[in-house]
Amino acid sequence: MKVLQTKTNKVIKGRKPGYAIEKDPVKILGKNFRLRIFYKNIKISELNLLGKDIQVFLPHKYKKIGNSAILSLALDKMYEAIAREEIDKIMEKTRIMLGFAPEDYTIEKIGTKLAHCSEDKKITIDPEIVKYDRKIIEYIILHQFCHLKYKTHAKKFYEIISKHMPNYKLYEKALENTKY
Ligand SMILES: [Zn+2]
Repeated sequence: MKVLQTKTNKVIKGRKPGYAIEKDPVKILGKNFRLRIFYKNIKISELNLLGKDIQVFLPHKYKKIGNSAILSLALDKMYEAIAREEIDKIMEKTRIMLGFAPEDYTIEKIGTKLAHCSEDKKITIDPEIVKYDRKIIEYIILHQFCHLKYKTHAKKFYEIISKHMPNYKLYEKALENTKY
């Protein structure tokens, strides 16, 4: 969450009606969005995607206490909502492509990595995976599916991957500093 914290520290105070974070745009499916914060007479925060803007509406009471924690929460909720929609489609696509699939999967915060396949063959996806380009998400999910067959990154593991995604090394490169 380090990235997000840097972002939220850059909130410009005292500007109306929308507070914009000028630097470090928020990524959704590899695309940049600008975060704009508005204070409204509401009880719970709301979030809306509009064009290239992510509008976050916060209750007035948060004005005093600073909004970085609450913003993180709002963005987490947004990532989760997008993940619920996107991941299901990619899971289905991967299932059809490979001819096998996990019995089920969960979308929940892992924190240390974007996705995980456990010893007992359960796949978990961190909602923040939706920051990445769809192609990269597809690779990460294919990678997890292949762990259902092979625990390690053995030769046969990569044989399945390269059969279905010949240019997978591009995505591995893009994920160089990321765990999955
Ligand atoms: Zn792996």
